[in-house]
Amino acid sequence: MSGGEVRLVMGDQLNAQHSWFAERDDEVVYLMMEVRQETDYVRHHVQKVVAFFLAMRAFAEARRAEGHRVHYVALDDGENAQTIEGNLRAALARYGTQRWAHQQVDEWRLDEQFRSLRERVGEGREVDSEHFLTARGDLAQLFEGKKTYLMERFYREMRKRHGVLLDAAGEPEGGKWNYDADNRSKWPKGHVPPAPLEFERDVRPVVELLERSGVEALGAAEPFGWAVTREEAEATLAHFVAELLPRFGALQDAMTTQGWALYHSRLSFVMNAKILHPMEVIRAVEEAWRADPERVPLNAAEGFIRQILGWREYVRGIYWARMPEYAELNALGAERAMPAWFWTGNTRMACMRHAIGQTLQHSYAHHIQRLMVTGNFALLAGLHPDEVDAWYLGVYIDALEWVEMPNTRGMSQFADGGIVGTKPYAASANYIQKQGDYCSGCAYKAKERVGPQSCPLNSLYWDFHARNRPLLEPNPRIGMVYRNWDRKSTEEQQALLARAAEVLDQIESL
Ligand SMILES: Cc1cc2nc3c(=O)[nH]c(=O)nc-3n(C[C@H](O)[C@H](O)[C@H](O)COP(=O)(O)OP(=O)(O)OC[C@H]3O[C@@H](n4cnc5c(N)ncnc54)[C@H](O)[C@@H]3O)c2cc1C
Repeated sequence: MSGGEVRLVMGDQLNAQHSWFAERDDEVVYLMMEVRQETDYVRHHVQKVVAFFLAMRAFAEARRAEGHRVHYVALDDGENAQTIEGNLRAALARYGTQRWAHQQVDEWRLDEQFRSLRERVGEGREVDSEHFLTARGDLAQLFEGKKTYLMERFYREMRKRHGVLLDAAGEPEGGKWNYDADNRSKWPKGHVPPAPLEFERDVRPVVELLERSGVEALGAAEPFGWAVTREEAEATLAHFVAELLPRFGALQDAMTTQGWALYHSRLSFVMNAKILHPMEVIRAVEEAWRADPERVPLNAAEGFIRQILGWREYVRGIYWARMPEYAELNALGAERAMPAWFWTGNTRMACMRHAIGQTLQHSYAHHIQRLMVTGNFALLAGLHPDEVDAWYLGVYIDALEWVEMPNTRGMSQFADGGIVGTKPYAASANYIQKQGDYCSGCAYKAKERVGPQSCPLNSLYWDFHARNRPLLEPNPRIGMVYRNWDRKSTEEQQALLARAAEVLDQIESL
């Protein structure tokens, strides 16, 4: 194959619609590999590693069935060098060529690695991954010279650029760009959500492979119901549009112990692995609204589309605009160690127990659990953003650094000092109680602010604002909190700070 080319396909590049696969070419070999470099860069949830391996294996099989040549290196393959470079060099030698190509990668550490590989190994070239709706540098260009990157501005630009939810005059459908105000309902009492669509398969062989190989993973391996093939991803999208989308909008911020996925799509893994293209998902939702606006209200369609056309592309733009410094930011100087129960769910705080418990069980939590339950606790308690990042990067099925880090370090922990969010998402027990049923059955009392029974979030909320006053007070969106604080008597303030100190002292046994 001396005139040929080895083309690398990484585990999150499973895009069957990529132009690489439009034609068969016997001179091309697709190289895929399961390597310790990727299983070990952080401690992952076992379902996350299993999902990537199963998806990669299914992708390789499907391409072979179409007649493409695929060289697949399994984790326990005797010839596996366990690094990208080692396996690439071996493949080039085996197929007698110097030419190789890879798709643009999405994480800084891999980007650096590939830059170096292109210089050192044979004749390497980089091609587009043909997945995202923006180029890496688009966001930085749009906001050039601006101090802040406003997501709403970016999102409107994207709606116009891609012609999404626009009327014939190019104006936003319904007259408004954003229907967020209609999307904040609490969970209706006693309402049981439909069961998520799950796919049964025997995951034991892959789990045993990981165990045999000594890959250290966390969480429950089963039940494993994730979509990993193109057909399953399409079925998950169809199920979402038919069954869940109508209520997605109103209930997207709600929380309950009645289910673990509620009306969320669970499409993040198949999109992040590039099995589904974001525009397929956006168009399916837009069409469902156009076909039957009575069934799919505009606030549901717009709210969902904003997450993908807006937030998903926006955080990726922030990542590429601000890496590698972004990974070091700690604007609030948060230094506390993460309590051990983040890894077990063994806490008396019902909201944390449920959110962490389902995370360990399913490698999944919906956005509000990530932001307003675990993220909020970490923010208020001042946990070190490095540890918080490592937790989020490890535990979730969809966690890849380009999307995990701006969400965690930025939106949730405010460690970027306000690049992603204009103010910290900090909340007391009041918010958690308002959005659903987490507080019923909790060992702590949501309404109490001091005393041993008081919900830790209440005193931590004030302690967080008191200790970060110099940085946060000038922010006009937070000023009100300080006016309320200053209205409290000195005794009340001292009691709140004393309770917070006690909570932080006992953080391991909350
Ligand atoms: C602290 C924290 C960490 C997060 N880490 C990740 C992560 O590692 N990987 C990841 O894909 N998402 C992450 N998110 C965003 C969001 O929580 C998940 O995308 C979502 O919960 C995935 O579930 P779903 O597919 O059911 O989403 P749905 O609620 O059905 O939303 C649909 C899609 O919109 C996109 N989306 C929604 N919110 C965001 C967002 N804030 N940023 C980017 N895309 C978004 C996702 O692709 C998602 O699949 C994080 C959020 C927070 C607050």
